[in-house]
Amino acid sequence: LLAAVELHKSFGSTRALAGVSFSIAAGEVVAVMGPSGSGKSTLLHCLSGILAPDEGTVTYDGHELGRLPDAQRSLLRRTDFGFVFQFGQLVPELTCLENVALPLRLAGAKRKIAELAAVEWLERLGVADTARKRPPDTSGGQSQRVAVARALVTGPKVLFADEPTGALDSLSGERVLKAMTDVARASGTAIVLVTHESRVAAYADREVVVRDGRIRVSEWQ
Ligand code: ATP
Ligand code: MG
Repeated sequence: LLAAVELHKSFGSTRALAGVSFSIAAGEVVAVMGPSGSGKSTLLHCLSGILAPDEGTVTYDGHELGRLPDAQRSLLRRTDFGFVFQFGQLVPELTCLENVALPLRLAGAKRKIAELAAVEWLERLGVADTARKRPPDTSGGQSQRVAVARALVTGPKVLFADEPTGALDSLSGERVLKAMTDVARASGTAIVLVTHESRVAAYADREVVVRDGRIRVSEWQ
């Protein structure tokens, strides 16, 4: 579904990616691990078309991202990709329900329809009780599940998650991982999951390790 070949990316004299190749199939869950500063976030940004690599290509569903006009690349990102970050991604002034409905509203859906879909996704993630609350009034684990609901409400083909459990204790972290991977599997969404969670093996199909801007080994299956 998504494949990167020989990505290189430098920031000034810092080499963030030094020839990374990566691919993920439809519906697959791949964990990306590795030490701080090894290039994981940079890889995610290149894969999702947020950042252009200096060298190498990223191909999604037959489209080479670097060759698409900017407008088409942004559109594809909105329709086919979802994003979850470590924290700070929900709008604090809106209720959790409104946060999840927001991407649909922005895409032109009527309020009623968007909110019905939002309720359904909150339920799938096990956080229906947060619907009327604002994100600052929920727990860290709950707001991450709300963020996952918001990322999935548009039905993306790929979910990019950059340390979605990084700010959580390990129990709520595992809950978020489980809810996220269960729901994505049920809807056939692939996940590129950057994580430090050591027990991620239970949730991913495959693991890759990034070290010094390169992929180092390791697959379980
Ligand atoms: P962490 O686990 O701490 O999030 P990471 O594996 O995600 O780390 P990256 O954020 O990809 O690492 O960074 C890889 C290298 O590129 C680091 O040396 C970082 O300092 C550098 N880097 C990343 N983004 C930028 C930027 N916008 N400008 C300058 N240097 C950057
Ligand atoms: Mg990072």
